[in-house]
Amino acid sequence: MSAERRKLVVALDGPASSGKSSVGAAAAPELGYRFCDTGLLYRAVTWLGLRERVDPAAGSAAVAELVQLADEVHLAPDAQGRLDRVVVDGRDGTDELHTAPVDEKVSDVSAIPEVRAALQPRQRALAREGGIVMAGRDIGTVILPDADLKIFLDASVEERGRRRAEERGVEANSQEGQAILAQLRRRDDLDRNRPVAPLRAASDAHVLRTDGNRFDQTVGMVVREILEAERTATAAGASA
Ligand code: C5P
Repeated sequence: MSAERRKLVVALDGPASSGKSSVGAAAAPELGYRFCDTGLLYRAVTWLGLRERVDPAAGSAAVAELVQLADEVHLAPDAQGRLDRVVVDGRDGTDELHTAPVDEKVSDVSAIPEVRAALQPRQRALAREGGIVMAGRDIGTVILPDADLKIFLDASVEERGRRRAEERGVEANSQEGQAILAQLRRRDDLDRNRPVAPLRAASDAHVLRTDGNRFDQTVGMVVREILEAERTATAAGASA
C-alpha cells in the first residue's frame, strides 16, 4: 500500500444487528483506522439512567439528569485503537451495556434530542483527525454529513434476528429467539420513526445488503469500499 495513503473519515450506519459494529471493528484495524461504535454512548447513558432509576419518559427533570449522566461517559481505546470500552468514574462498564434491560430502554433514551445534542460534540471531535470508521444510526446524516465515505449496512430483520439469536446462543425459532426478533422490530420502528436523527441511509451512502453473507465477506466488502474511496480521494488531491 502506498505511503501517501490518505486516511478517511468513514460513516458506517445501519439498523440494529446489521453487523456494523463487529464488521467495522474488524475492518478498521486492517486498514490502520480507529473504530468507534457510537451505540455504546447511548447504551452507557441508558445503563447509568437505569442504575440511577431515571425514567426517560418522566419529563424535563429526567432529561436534565440523563444529559448530566452523558457527560460522565468516556470511551477508551483497546490495543487495536478500537474505542470500545466505556468508562464511567474510572470504572469499565462495557460488559453491562449489551443486556436485555439496556436493549429495552436504549431507543427511548436515544430519541431524546438533549441527550443526542450532549453526545454530538464528542463524536465530531473523534473524527476530526481522520482515519476513523464511526458506526451508528445518524453518522452519515447528522454527525458527519461531510464524511469522505458513507456506508449503510442493511439486512432483512429476519436475518438480523437469526444473527442476534446465534450470538446469544439460542435457536432462532425458540421462544427466546422470537422475543429477540420482536425486540429488533420494535427498535427498528423507534429508531426509524423518531423525529430527531431517525435511522436512514444518507442520500450519498453506499448501501450494502448483507443477507446471506458470511461475516468475512461483509468485512471484505467494507475494506474494498474504503480502499476505493481512498484511491479516489488521493487521485482528486493529486489533480487539485
Ligand atoms: O448500535 P446499537 O444497537 O448498539 O445501538 C443501540 C441504540 O442506540 C440504537 O437502537 C439507537 O436507538 C441508538 N443509537 C442512535 N444513534 C447512534 C447509535 C445508536 O440513536 N448513532
